[in-house]
Amino acid sequence: MVTDPDRVPSYTHDRSTGTPSGQPLAVVFARSTGQEHRPVRLQQVVAEALQLMRASLPASVALESSIDSGTAMVLAEMIASGELSSLARPGAEPAARHTMHVQGTPLSDGIALGHVVLHEPRVVITNVIADDVPRELKRLDAAIATLRADLDRMVEHRDVADGGEHRDVLEAYRMFSYDQGWMHKITEAVTTGLTAEAGVERVQSDTRARMLRASDPYLRDRLHDLDDLANRLMRVLMGQDHAPGREQLPDNAIVVARSMGPAALLDYDRKKLRGLILEEGGPTSHVSIVARALGIPTVGEIENATGLVEPGDAVIVDGSTGHVHMRPPQDIEAAYGERVKLRARRQAQYRALRERPCVTKDGEQIALMINAGLTIDLAHIAETGAAGIGLFRTELQFMVAPTLPRTGEQMTLYRTVLDAAGKKPVTFRTLDIGGDKVLPYLRNFEEENPALGWRAIRLGLDRPGLLRSQVRALLRAAGGRELRVMFPMIATVEEFDKAKALVEVELTHLRRHGHLLPERVQIGTMLEVPSLLFQLDDLLERVDFLSVGSNDLMQFLYAADRGNVRVSARFDPLSAPVLRALKEIADKASKHGKPVALCGELASQPIGALALAILGYRALSLSPSAVGPVKAMLLELDCKKGEAAILPCLEQPIGSVSIRHKLEGFAAAEGLQL
Ligand code: PEP
Ligand code: MG
Repeated sequence: MVTDPDRVPSYTHDRSTGTPSGQPLAVVFARSTGQEHRPVRLQQVVAEALQLMRASLPASVALESSIDSGTAMVLAEMIASGELSSLARPGAEPAARHTMHVQGTPLSDGIALGHVVLHEPRVVITNVIADDVPRELKRLDAAIATLRADLDRMVEHRDVADGGEHRDVLEAYRMFSYDQGWMHKITEAVTTGLTAEAGVERVQSDTRARMLRASDPYLRDRLHDLDDLANRLMRVLMGQDHAPGREQLPDNAIVVARSMGPAALLDYDRKKLRGLILEEGGPTSHVSIVARALGIPTVGEIENATGLVEPGDAVIVDGSTGHVHMRPPQDIEAAYGERVKLRARRQAQYRALRERPCVTKDGEQIALMINAGLTIDLAHIAETGAAGIGLFRTELQFMVAPTLPRTGEQMTLYRTVLDAAGKKPVTFRTLDIGGDKVLPYLRNFEEENPALGWRAIRLGLDRPGLLRSQVRALLRAAGGRELRVMFPMIATVEEFDKAKALVEVELTHLRRHGHLLPERVQIGTMLEVPSLLFQLDDLLERVDFLSVGSNDLMQFLYAADRGNVRVSARFDPLSAPVLRALKEIADKASKHGKPVALCGELASQPIGALALAILGYRALSLSPSAVGPVKAMLLELDCKKGEAAILPCLEQPIGSVSIRHKLEGFAAAEGLQL
């Protein structure tokens, strides 16, 4: 065993547990206890491991004094990695007062430095039994009226009143307060002899129980909304404030919450609220949609965040990378302070580039488009100066709606998107649902491997009614203009033929009924299933364009679940196997004269975009925040030089050269900002 931590070149954290990965145990252990790393002898590690375990285990669990060093090592590692967290006594985290660095999911861009405010949604009820039921029912009615009036005011607040997905989310939340079923259950509970607040709490515990069972993130978000609403109603009943008042908030408040409904964030004074950290909540959670609309840097999926900090602790939230530094040392704080300043300068620089065409130094034009899916994203076209929308994820509308959106509602959204894009192209992707993107209003089938299951175009072809209604909405929305549509998860050319035929049937139908048709319909496909790599010529003869989905292509090429960081981070997308596949796609598309774009996350990292430009990609679709950095890099790139430096590496024996390092070296030599 290596015990010299100085031999470890880098230090990374596992996203889900904050675990340092791939390191000698001594280092893992030293870090887990918050100590500075230092050479540690094996016995010392074992002794400290035993001590740590004693501190972490409940009093009821006796630790064998004869435990051997091997077992101690294994246990220490498990404690350090969080795998033994279920045994840990609450509050016994030894690292709680030390500086701590964890990695979560970036939810809303930006960097914030400030002090912790714990979000305390829970309300403690002291008075449970009612002596006067009719009076309690009256109190309940009055509280509901106040709750609704509060929410009306909140939704109309000028910060959020403009249209956009956050507005839809808040509207949906407000509608919950009118939900008859919910009201009925609370009234029923009060009628059994509970006080109004106890009645609300009883219904809320039922909601929480369902929340714990729900594995679907969309459904969980909805249940969070209800949970949040119940807390709000209880506070109205008990005359408590929803959030600390302006005077109680520190100037730079970073709110740390287990979870949050969308309205709770709006309770905080916006002048003082700087950032948000959540234990739960993914990118499509309602609170993150609202946080993005308000421009509040947010990081989610930080396990036990509320247990790791105390009110007033200094904290840094990096919403662009997902890093959170708790009680950071001075040098980290200073470095982040610098980054904030630099970011502001860079943003100004990127804004200045907005109108400049994206052409490399040697004259290669590269179209930079954005990925979108919600109406809130549309403003980014103008803000970034993007060349269009390279991927519009239509399923997001379905995921935030309480019921299946009708053809008319779909059409309205698509028209809004096309209007916002003006003359710039928009590529709509048909529904990519199924698998883990389960819609609560569609029947859910248990699947062992949802990513490989009945999803996307497979579901679309088997349930053509859904796909046809979507295609009809798209064709009608694009009447008189160009429609670009592509299908997700196509695995065979036959699937593409069938999907394309379905578009033609709808076109014929609309023509027969005298509707205004699109001026031109371009039909393409996502390339995200590796089987297509072996049917490229046949596929390219049929499609009007290709768009490579590198997120799924990577996951399937390496058989590594993209959502599971234990496996997804161990394969490098900039390694020869992936780059060879990507080059083959670009070369074949060019041979067939068919445009090819790449719309996965790879394009959103400057180093990924550099590799793609060198491989021959001339259209990339990015997260809006990546357009500035990627464009700044491409404007300084000489593609020919890049090809000469990098392409030969693709032919070299695997393992003999790191293409990522080569790309970094090339960028440094050429002065490209990665
Ligand atoms: C992809 O797979 O790369 C892609 C862009 O699609 P999504 O991330 O929506 O699966
Ligand atoms: Mg995909």
